[in-house]
Amino acid sequence: MKQFQLAYHDIPTLQRELQKIRLWKKSAVHSHTVFQILAEHPRREVVDSICSQIRRSMPDALYFGCSTSGSIMNGAIAPDEIVIICNIFEYPSTKTMLLQYTLTSETAADVTASLLEVLQDNPWVKCVEFFTTIRGMSMTEFCDGLGKARPDIRIFGGGAYNYEPDGNACVFSSVGEWNENSVVFWLIGGEDFHVELTHITGWKPLGKVFHVTRSEGSRLIELDHMPAYAVYYKYLNIRNDSHFFTNTLEFPFFYEHNGINILRAPVSSEPDGSLIMTSDMEENVQARLAYGDPQTILESVRNEGRIIRDFAPELIWVFSCAARRTFWGDSEVSKETEPFQAMAPTSGFYTSSEFLRTNGYVNQHNVTLVVAGMREGDPVAVDKTEMEIDESVFTGKVSLINRLASYINAAVRDLESAAIRDGMTHLYNRAEIQRRIAERLASGKPLSLIMMDIDNFKSVNDTFGHQEGDNVIIGLTELLHSGIPEHNPDASAGRWGGEEFMLLMPYELEYAQRAAARICKDFSELQFPKAGGQTLSLGVTQADPEEPLDDLLIRVDKALYEAKQTGKNRCVIYPAPQK
Ligand code: GH3
Ligand code: MG
Ligand code: MG
Repeated sequence: MKQFQLAYHDIPTLQRELQKIRLWKKSAVHSHTVFQILAEHPRREVVDSICSQIRRSMPDALYFGCSTSGSIMNGAIAPDEIVIICNIFEYPSTKTMLLQYTLTSETAADVTASLLEVLQDNPWVKCVEFFTTIRGMSMTEFCDGLGKARPDIRIFGGGAYNYEPDGNACVFSSVGEWNENSVVFWLIGGEDFHVELTHITGWKPLGKVFHVTRSEGSRLIELDHMPAYAVYYKYLNIRNDSHFFTNTLEFPFFYEHNGINILRAPVSSEPDGSLIMTSDMEENVQARLAYGDPQTILESVRNEGRIIRDFAPELIWVFSCAARRTFWGDSEVSKETEPFQAMAPTSGFYTSSEFLRTNGYVNQHNVTLVVAGMREGDPVAVDKTEMEIDESVFTGKVSLINRLASYINAAVRDLESAAIRDGMTHLYNRAEIQRRIAERLASGKPLSLIMMDIDNFKSVNDTFGHQEGDNVIIGLTELLHSGIPEHNPDASAGRWGGEEFMLLMPYELEYAQRAAARICKDFSELQFPKAGGQTLSLGVTQADPEEPLDDLLIRVDKALYEAKQTGKNRCVIYPAPQK
């Protein structure tokens, strides 16, 4: 593959440059020519005249383009408003095709169905790159549709950017008109064409987990039962004003979807406090806010960019989120794309969303770099020297953000742990152990409970004082802390009340029965300074996954009561109810 990258100035200059490419093509072996036209503030007349110039100069060439939030040329942000990338394939075996469709919420399913038909009829396709408008629609159906393509087809794309604050994004191509609701697919393949893809963020999760408690499609209504917007205001002091979009871009949500980590930024905030996202947010998703810090980001680019380097690309294409340009500023944003230029000519643009197929699924990303390496023929020897990244400028600023973020993460972990643990014993508190029991019961997997209560404990307090009473409780606690991980790594222990404890055993009854017998025996062998030896009574039972939580808790309590009634210092076992 060969590439020419042109900054557009005027038609006469473009004419001369196209003429040079034609001369080059006369002297070289080539099969197809495909132009990509990237326009930061496109005026339709200008784009139309560029397109007709290309048609006139190279009637066989294909072209497609879109509005961008800035272009990447020679691995750096381009100062020019319009950049034209000319890709020339050299192998006769390489095939390529362009398709353009009108794309709206109503047509998304039809569009992907038509594409799938074309892919079916053209088994040579290895890779689909697309430019799409996304404003005002959820891309979930579109992504799901693309995910049904033949599993070996690599798919990636970029969202065209609004070229005016309230205007729409546009795409255009040699097979379709300038259109503000549209997608262009570029199909490439053939036995000598190869592609490698990766996505890189560098943003890291920050602070506490929020549960999506209410959502409707791409409208994120509530997090932890609060209006979703309140999270941005409460934790980051981001107001619902005209800067909301740019401010939140630096703190997108971070969550797991289709088995990979995804960053998701809001598009806008509604008067009711809900957030419109670029993609559907499912209920029960656990999301955190993410932050970017320069050094971590550059490290990610270096580490995760190696997959592209090792592929030995001839050309590199980058879809980089417009948020990254906002985050770095124009003077520094090229630092994360320049390392790719050291491997191969790198171009691309700043997007309103980045798309990549991973593990079969096509995911919509935000605040992400999607990087494609392309090559025809076998790889040439790869230069394994490190990708060069200039980190020196960031030293001061970085350590502060980094340290504050790790402080916040550690403090949040402390608070989360404090909220679910009993202060005296550091076992789970009753709410937490009960929550865990309910969760396990709902899973339908094996669950047994051991409930225990120290025998004649009142008299320990009365005879030897409260302090000695505490010592006995702590003696039992230590037994639970040390004995549980050793024998039952998956069990959880909680303080149910004063000197009553509950063990969640994710096992069948026999296993719990043995553990209970061991605890009963081990505890009776402890010696306390004043109180000497003490005993406890235990109730044990197994859950029936169909039964209500209350029935299970009542049964284990009854078993314990029976142990007390029948002499204490013993275990009473109640099996799961017969169905
Ligand atoms: P039984 O064998 O029937 O369980 O008799 P018991 O004396 O243990 O009776 P009960 O369970 O009703 O008594 C619990 C006592 O434990 C009452 C309460 O004052 C005491 N207690 C609860 N929490 C603590 C604590 O944290 N420290 C101390 N020292 N005593 C506590
Ligand atoms: Mg007791
Ligand atoms: Mg008691």
